[in-house]
Amino acid sequence: MAEYEAVIGLEVHAQLTTNTKLFCACPTRFGDGPNENVCPVCAGMPGVLPVMNDRALEYACKMAMAIDATINLTSIFARKNYFYPDLPKGYQISQYEQPLCEHGRVEIETAAGTKTVGVTRIHMEEDAGKNIHSSTENKSFVDLNRCGVPLIEIVSEPDMRSSEEAVAYLKELRSILVYLGVCDGNMEEGSFRCDANVSVRRKGDKNFGTRAEIKNVNSFRNVQRAIDYEIGRHIDCIEDGEAIVQETRLFDANKGVTQSMRGKEEAHDYRYFPDPDLVPVRVEPSWIERWRGELPELPAAKRERFIAKYGLPEYDAGVLTAEREVADYFEAAVGVHPEPKKIANWIMSELMRELNECGESIRGCRLRPEGLAKLVRIIDSGAISGKIGKQIFGDLFRSGEDPEAYIAAKGLAQISDAGALDAVVDEVLAACPGEVARYKAGEKKLTGFFVGQIMQKTKGQANPKLVGELLAAKLG
Ligand code: ADP
Ligand code: MG
Ligand code: ZN
Repeated sequence: MAEYEAVIGLEVHAQLTTNTKLFCACPTRFGDGPNENVCPVCAGMPGVLPVMNDRALEYACKMAMAIDATINLTSIFARKNYFYPDLPKGYQISQYEQPLCEHGRVEIETAAGTKTVGVTRIHMEEDAGKNIHSSTENKSFVDLNRCGVPLIEIVSEPDMRSSEEAVAYLKELRSILVYLGVCDGNMEEGSFRCDANVSVRRKGDKNFGTRAEIKNVNSFRNVQRAIDYEIGRHIDCIEDGEAIVQETRLFDANKGVTQSMRGKEEAHDYRYFPDPDLVPVRVEPSWIERWRGELPELPAAKRERFIAKYGLPEYDAGVLTAEREVADYFEAAVGVHPEPKKIANWIMSELMRELNECGESIRGCRLRPEGLAKLVRIIDSGAISGKIGKQIFGDLFRSGEDPEAYIAAKGLAQISDAGALDAVVDEVLAACPGEVARYKAGEKKLTGFFVGQIMQKTKGQANPKLVGELLAAKLG
């Protein structure tokens, strides 16, 4: 591997969150019954006329602005011709020669620091339908609900050099899209999908090697696995003196390998041409200004602000800002109890663990930011220990109960009353005359033993600081 370098470029398809399709008024809802959301336009009946959805244009342009791409004030829809049962028109409406946006860039964090990945273009296009192959009958079905759903395709420059960089780029892209609210980023439902182009060359070579394109890998982990497999395969080919063929491959997630789907000879000639039914897309500069004003704070800016304003480590800032809702949750909690690092720790460890376990997003979380902030404040005040805080966290997470009320009802408050603890300390010392004698003879490390006994007797509720003071006083 040492002498080789991978070259990776990604093509991402992101489904836009418009309510209706790109060229008709059919709903884009996921999960409806087969062929429920279909009309003559998206079913490709002859004689119909497509009309572009303005909202899709707005969303595509917002993404372009977020990655500093140039918006072409005029762009052209083109027909990409091919036959497949899920494409009733016999062509997909896409953009080819004059795409909507060009020359963007995305910054990613790598082991070697910040790196810029170039974005060649973003264009608008419609999705195709879906073929469903029955596992019980010898039949296939076609669902056209997805036909005409608006997508943007984001094509990167071949700027990435490892699978880690590719995944970092994808995560950043997804994060930006979701922040903007223009894509829900759901990879399982196919709202965010990616084809990876991979080649390998000897380090120092100026020219790129022959690439293979891996189709539709459906999770970050599989993108990483597929690329790593492909890099290894290319290196083996080169070492064995075999030629690498330019081809399209599919990743088999069960076997962890890529397999040839079609070679260059079978590659489609799509015969692109401008769609005669659609006028050129024109964007007014005044619209761009209006949309720019509507852009939210984006992940990279938020990350920088979290570092500067809250003094968080880069890592924490990255985790907390990957999703806008997590970032909002953090800021709301810090507003109630201004201890950013402590709040960050609770969110990144306990809260995220619970959310992962029940597979929920932070949006529906019953424990609101105020509740979490209160819990941290109660611990800071010494009323309960951090350990008890962690023990009760699961209950609070599930019930959303007010931490103060919960702690009072369960009688969990730390015993900080010297009078009450005094008796417990006496009891423990009386029960362990041997240890007391050893302590007095100089075995000072027995303090830990006494503290342990007292904690056990009080179910962990004794104020450790007070216990230390009482012990020191009594043992002289
Ligand atoms: P196509 O339309 O056939 O997929 P493009 O020229 O649009 O071809 O390239 C698609 C993607 O492939 C882009 O993301 C680009 O960065 C990437 N790419 C091009 N050449 C290489 C290469 N030699 N190795 C890796 N990726 C490449
Ligand atoms: Mg391609
Ligand atoms: Zn329709």
